[in-house]
Amino acid sequence: MLYTITPFFLEFKTPFSIAHGTRNGTDLVFLEIIQDGIVAHGEASLPPYLPETSETVQAFIDAFFMQHPDELANLSLSLQQLHSFQQGSFAAKACVDIAFHNWFAKKEGIGVWQLLGLKNHPLPPCTFTIGMGDKESLHQKVKDGNDFSILKVKLGGENDKQIISSIREVTQKPLCVDVNQGWKDKMFALDMIHWLKEQNIIFIEQPLPKNNYDDSLWLHEMSPLPLIADESIQQPTDVVKIKDAFDGVNMKLMKCGGISEGLKLITEARKYNLKVLIGSMSESGCAITAAAQLSSRRLDRP
Ligand code: MG
Repeated sequence: MLYTITPFFLEFKTPFSIAHGTRNGTDLVFLEIIQDGIVAHGEASLPPYLPETSETVQAFIDAFFMQHPDELANLSLSLQQLHSFQQGSFAAKACVDIAFHNWFAKKEGIGVWQLLGLKNHPLPPCTFTIGMGDKESLHQKVKDGNDFSILKVKLGGENDKQIISSIREVTQKPLCVDVNQGWKDKMFALDMIHWLKEQNIIFIEQPLPKNNYDDSLWLHEMSPLPLIADESIQQPTDVVKIKDAFDGVNMKLMKCGGISEGLKLITEARKYNLKVLIGSMSESGCAITAAAQLSSRRLDRP
C-alpha cells in the first residue's frame, strides 16, 4: 500500500468568530492511500483550540503505517489496529479511518453507508452556520445561507441579544444556537434561554463549560429548550456520563476518531433516546461526506 500526506490550509471566505476567538481558516491534513489501483482519501481538521496539529497528525500517520505496513485485507482488523494505536490523536485516527472506509467501499463498488449496513434515508435538514459579527456581516451571512431552511448562530459573547435581534430583522427562519461554552453562569444561561425561546430558537448547544456538570444538570432540568452537548461529548464512552444533563449530542468524526467510533457514539446516544446532531469542524467535502454516511442512524433505535 502506498500513502501520501498533504497538509492544506482551508481558507474561509470571511473571518469566522465564535466564543473561542476569530480565525481565517483551519489547518487540514489530507491522506491518500493506494492499493490494487484503488485510490481512497481521508482528512483531519485541526482547529487551533484542539491539541492536535498538522505536524502531530503527520507524525501519527507515519508511525502507524510504519508499525502496520500490512496490505489492506480486512476492514475490521485494520480499524482495530488503528484505534488501539497510541492514546488520543482522534483527528489523526479519523483521517486514517475515513480513508480505510473509503478504500473498502470503493473495492466493493458501494457507498460507505452500504458497507456499514445502514439505510439510504433522505439526508436530514442541514444548518448553515453564522459566526459572530456586526449587523452588516450578520445580514450578509443570512443571505449567504439562503438555500438552507435552518440557520445555526454562534453566541456566547458580549452581544448575544443584539446578534439574534439583527438576524431577526432579516429572517424568521428557525435558528439553533451554539454557545461554545460561552455562558459561565447558570442563572444567566437560563435567562438567556427563556429570552431565546421567544425568538423561534430550536435548541441550545453547549451553553455552559464542559466540566461544569452539576450546573449543566440543573440547567437541563430548568431549560424550556432542548440542550445539545458538543464540547462535553467526545468519545462513545462519554455518552453515559452526560446523558442526564442534555437532550442530545453533537457527533463529530474529528472528536471521536472517525466513522467506526462515530457510529458507536450514535448507537450509544440512541440507546438513551438522545437526539443526534452530526456536526463537523471546519472541514472539506471529504470529511463532511464521510460523516454524512452515518446520517441514517441518527433516528434509529438500536
Ligand atoms: Mg458546537
